[in-house]
Amino acid sequence: MENKITSLAEYFQKYKESVADPDNFWGKIAESHYWRKKWDQVIDYKFEGDGAPDVNWFVNGKLNITENIFERNMFMRKDQVAIIWEPNDPKEREIKLTYGELFEKVKQFANGLKKIGVKKGDRVALYLPMVPELAIAMLACARIGAIHSIVFAGFSATALADRINDAEAKVVITSDGGFRGTKSIPLKSIADEAVEKCPSVETTVVLKRTEEEIQWTEGRDIWWNDLIADVDCENQAETMDSEDVLFILYTSGSTGKPKGVVHTTAGYMVYAEYTFKNVFQYNDGDIYWCTADIGWVTGHSYIVYGPLLTGATSVMFEGVPTWPDAGRFWEIVDKYKINQFYTAPTAIRALVAQGDEWVTKHDLSSLKVLGTVGEPINEEAWRWYHDLIGKGRCPIVDTWWQTETGGIMITPLAGITPTKPSLATLPLPGIQPVLLDHEGNELKGNSVEGILCIKHPWPGMIRTTWGDHQRCYQTYFASFPGYYLTGDGAKRDEEGYYRIIGRIDDVINVSGHRIGTAEVEDAINQHPKVVESAVVGYPHEIKGAGIYAYVICEDMTDAELDNIEAEIKATVNKFIGPIAKPDKIQIVSGLPKTRSGKIMRRILRKIGEGDATNLGDTSTLLDPGVVEEIIDGAKVEV
Ligand code: ATP
Ligand code: MG
Repeated sequence: MENKITSLAEYFQKYKESVADPDNFWGKIAESHYWRKKWDQVIDYKFEGDGAPDVNWFVNGKLNITENIFERNMFMRKDQVAIIWEPNDPKEREIKLTYGELFEKVKQFANGLKKIGVKKGDRVALYLPMVPELAIAMLACARIGAIHSIVFAGFSATALADRINDAEAKVVITSDGGFRGTKSIPLKSIADEAVEKCPSVETTVVLKRTEEEIQWTEGRDIWWNDLIADVDCENQAETMDSEDVLFILYTSGSTGKPKGVVHTTAGYMVYAEYTFKNVFQYNDGDIYWCTADIGWVTGHSYIVYGPLLTGATSVMFEGVPTWPDAGRFWEIVDKYKINQFYTAPTAIRALVAQGDEWVTKHDLSSLKVLGTVGEPINEEAWRWYHDLIGKGRCPIVDTWWQTETGGIMITPLAGITPTKPSLATLPLPGIQPVLLDHEGNELKGNSVEGILCIKHPWPGMIRTTWGDHQRCYQTYFASFPGYYLTGDGAKRDEEGYYRIIGRIDDVINVSGHRIGTAEVEDAINQHPKVVESAVVGYPHEIKGAGIYAYVICEDMTDAELDNIEAEIKATVNKFIGPIAKPDKIQIVSGLPKTRSGKIMRRILRKIGEGDATNLGDTSTLLDPGVVEEIIDGAKVEV
């Protein structure tokens, strides 16, 4: 496979080349793509000054990303399966779409969108469950140059309306409903409520999925099937400039108001394909499964664009990991003989708590590579994943990246980079991470810890935040001129491996010692009764900051409950030392999480500070009830 690294020596070689001469490095990789017109210059950028950031890759190149998925792959892969769709209910039939079939559907839907007046540059909001039509709709947008903005189908009407309005979308594509486990979510009625507050929306396209009753607005609503009924499958892709916008995607909202991250065509394409094949070491014929939702960036880059550009077979799953039972993931791995499996620590931790028997009854021998993304993976979860799921023979790729980075940044290459539990290891070629101190000085050498920034642009990076370029500069470039600020803190260990220690705000300064929340949580989770934990800092008279731990435990007897706090402290003492011992421990039944499964520590921080009146934007919160319960049980006056 072109541009695939196959050994550690080659990785180091490529890395060196990519830093010495980025233009030449990325230019060569981009040669393997299909261009209507080649670029004049590989990169032209500034992170500072008028209009900054101004980042242009493959300047003046002309292309269409769908031509790189379809026309480029068609000769070899017309009859190869592109997407395997596994429904929520295992009794329903799966769907397999070959590259040829998917292509026809994309072109047809693209023509349907044109019929309702969607033109290049228009925004289309997608609010759909995990069904093949979601991938079809996004690729159809890309085909005609419309900008897709996918909103995760777990979001409320208000959150959806905010995103539609921010992007001023002209069309919304939704379905009557969506299945998730035993639930059926009335997507159309949520979309109706949202669209009432969205003056830009002219048309709502509705896919039939759950067959539930819906309200209909004549003149605005149209069924998906009616839209494509009299439309043919001939479609010439729109010619796009390298820097034309491909999509907008709002960040998870773990730290504040979601930002409309803008990605453009050529750089994103080159980066998604390059990172996919290298990180997962994908081979022709492999069956690859990423369990993310396409509503998150992981689904964009590693269910749809990366795999399909590579010509891979990508599995898409509509349901949840625990229905009909906690063995569903492993049943699917067995059913399709999955080779590469990519999921999130939150899913792993949830499944660890269910017990091993759900795993051991399925045949997982097809697995070759395991991946995680989204949060630091604690050591206990890493071990379980490695030993029980991978049977000790599958490398784990702990992939660090962000919505803003477009693709994976710091990660092992599967089977090539030696791994260590809970370390994201080394940067991909082309990525120049640096650790800064608070004054913005680069910390040189190994065994250092600081603010993780990126020095040189990479093709998949954010170009702007939709409708507010200044916000992009302020958020990512203003703090340390000349660098992209990730917002995460990291350690570079004695070997030069990176360990992500959490958001900068999550680093707690206890009596002058900087302690990462991830590390403390990792230690707490080593206690056999602990299911999950979240740690934040709070103002402490003597130490400056104290450590407040919110902990979910398994069922315990009263006697066990009496001892648990002391035992947790002893565990932390053993794994890190007395300095990291939590000052306050609150046993809770749940933690506030975003809909992508990440802990919203800023809410816990507010509660720990005793200020629950101002919790900020909670629209991306999964279950507000959890917050009430935590406030009630808080170890401070709230
Ligand atoms: P928002 O920016 O709106 O607060 P978010 O940062 O959670 O939301 P994403 O872009 O989905 O939105 O997540 C990126 C963040 O997830 C990273 O900045 C990092 O904090 C965390 N993360 C992702 N992968 C890893 C990983 N492998 N190890 C540790 N942390 C990770
Ligand atoms: Mg973020």
